[in-house]
Amino acid sequence: MKKLLPAVLIVLLILLGIGLFGMLKSKGSTAEPSPTAEPASEPVSTVEPTEEPVIEETPEPTMDPSVFTDTNSLLVVANKKHRLPEGYVPPDLVTPEISQVQACTMRAPAAEAIKAMAEAAAADGVTLKISSAYRGEDYQRQLYNGYSASYGTATADTISSRPGYSDHQTGLAADFVEQDGSMNGINFNQNFENTDSGIWLRDHAHEYGFIMRYPKGKQDITGYAYEPWHFRYIGVDYATAIYETDVFCSFEEYFDVEGGDYAE
Ligand SMILES: [Zn+2]
Repeated sequence: MKKLLPAVLIVLLILLGIGLFGMLKSKGSTAEPSPTAEPASEPVSTVEPTEEPVIEETPEPTMDPSVFTDTNSLLVVANKKHRLPEGYVPPDLVTPEISQVQACTMRAPAAEAIKAMAEAAAADGVTLKISSAYRGEDYQRQLYNGYSASYGTATADTISSRPGYSDHQTGLAADFVEQDGSMNGINFNQNFENTDSGIWLRDHAHEYGFIMRYPKGKQDITGYAYEPWHFRYIGVDYATAIYETDVFCSFEEYFDVEGGDYAE
């Protein structure tokens, strides 16, 4: 028996060796590629967007409401809901270089712009002419009282401003008239829109910073009937923005400013 033990151990070791060899061999065989292997899938473009799409935030216009009451602002409002400060006189009135029926004055920035506008119109064969620009509060009072005495307050309010409420008192507005004598009767009449001046102003005034202050069909909003002859300087950027909104877009609509009739 004693001699058998080493022999048994040797046999066991041999068997163990065979077993290990077999295991290794069988393991190697499974590494062979299977004939049914799926072809390597095509590279699919699964590139994830690396950044979230940028949503541009449109900032709300943050107009400081004081621009509509500050007389130094080109957006200062004079309408039937907004009175100018008592006795306001613009500090920079000058005589604009444009054909005029009677001597007119305007605030310096408006005068400079109206000169450039008149030159541009002349280059297009249109002679712009104004009959009235800045009107002081006292003069407006005479004008309004005259209309009021002739036609009554209700009618006067539709054709003239009460003193202190006139766009003309800002020194930034002007009334245009047709130069051609044969067009007499067309001035301060809605048919002015069909004159050379009326058409040119409607289409080009914004390029020089002027807007049609009392557009067609906006009486309830502006407080005044259509005045195709009355233009107001507010600067090129805003004038262009209003014009591009609509040719008859009003200042009150664009800036969401209160207008319409007098409170009382
Ligand atoms: Zn006017």
